[in-house]
Amino acid sequence: MRNPRVRPPETALRICVKLRQPGEGIGAFPGTAMIDLRSDTVTRPSPAMREAVAAAPVGDDQYGEDPTTNKLQDHVAALLGKQAALWLPSGTMANQVALRVLTRPGDDVVVSPESHAVWHETGGSAANAGVQFTVAGKAGVFTAGEFAAAVKPRGHVIYPPTTLVEIENTHNRAGGVVFPQGEVERICKAAKERDVATYLDGARIWNAAVAIGEEPATLAAPFDLVGVSLSKGLGAPGGSLLAGSRERVDKCVRHRRMLGGAMRQVGLFAAAGLFALEHHYERLAEDHGNARLIAERLAGSPRVILDRATVQTNIVVFHVTADAPDGATIVTRAKERGVLVFAFGPRTIRLVTHLDVSRGDCASAADILRALIES
Ligand SMILES: *Cc1c(COP(=O)(O)O)cnc(C)c1O
Repeated sequence: MRNPRVRPPETALRICVKLRQPGEGIGAFPGTAMIDLRSDTVTRPSPAMREAVAAAPVGDDQYGEDPTTNKLQDHVAALLGKQAALWLPSGTMANQVALRVLTRPGDDVVVSPESHAVWHETGGSAANAGVQFTVAGKAGVFTAGEFAAAVKPRGHVIYPPTTLVEIENTHNRAGGVVFPQGEVERICKAAKERDVATYLDGARIWNAAVAIGEEPATLAAPFDLVGVSLSKGLGAPGGSLLAGSRERVDKCVRHRRMLGGAMRQVGLFAAAGLFALEHHYERLAEDHGNARLIAERLAGSPRVILDRATVQTNIVVFHVTADAPDGATIVTRAKERGVLVFAFGPRTIRLVTHLDVSRGDCASAADILRALIES
């Protein structure tokens, strides 16, 4: 697996070669022989989470009879300060359902550059909701002024009407940046004045809340509908929720069914979600610290282009200069040395920290990456 010609730094050598023999694994996660920084979705349920799943009372959720799902929905609604919440299998489906509830086919939706809706949902928004997107701002965020300039008016003989603004917080492709809350409030106010609905793609809203020391309800308050994920940094095996007014969430129920996402004994997932919210929320701060540690070590390299100001949560996105190996080569060589990363572009790499990588893992990974980028 590892290239014997290139010696990893001493710490990396110790962790990768001595502790991580093939098939040996680490800690509570047997079989994890790699430092996997591809995404915070790669975490596996811990023994304690599995116990919570095994013990959960369940029922048929389509009759509203799954007590654990009902408990999770009530809990998340309260956390987000909304009347109601609905469980869905994935964050992508949550985003799709939100579009169908808040727009009509042919409508225009204002989003940030490189948003999940545009890049990571395989064109679902066009296929399912029939909407088009207008991109505003830069580096994952936009201002109320940029939003207002992007809005196309209703009733125009030529323009598609802008009926929704979607904010992604934290913003994945921009490097996990937190959307400034003051700007969120100004945008949502400007939207209301124009009869434009508001949606928060808050798959990682927990990271944003922890990073800035705010309650999730505060971050969710300005929005008509809010989508959150349990399977990113919180480490549950699946599940997202949509939260909003009772009336809007009731409408989501039908669209979830239309998209094939209405399930039965969902309490097995909901139990993992409740466990994750209880035990894995506060510790998100550790992931943020680990991402900063990696960023600091990488940013010291003359071949790494990394804006430290973007490293606000658990994601590190960086570029490499023309004299460095390209993204695909970095991914391959890192894998040979026991580190998994993701290439976002020809010379762009993304790393994500999560509860299955320790501070030591992250330090080693940063040293391994820096050495191979400079080799
Ligand atoms: C992961 C993610 C989603 C989609 O979640 P899935 O469960 O992977 O479908 C939506 N929005 C953002 C910002 C995400 O990072």
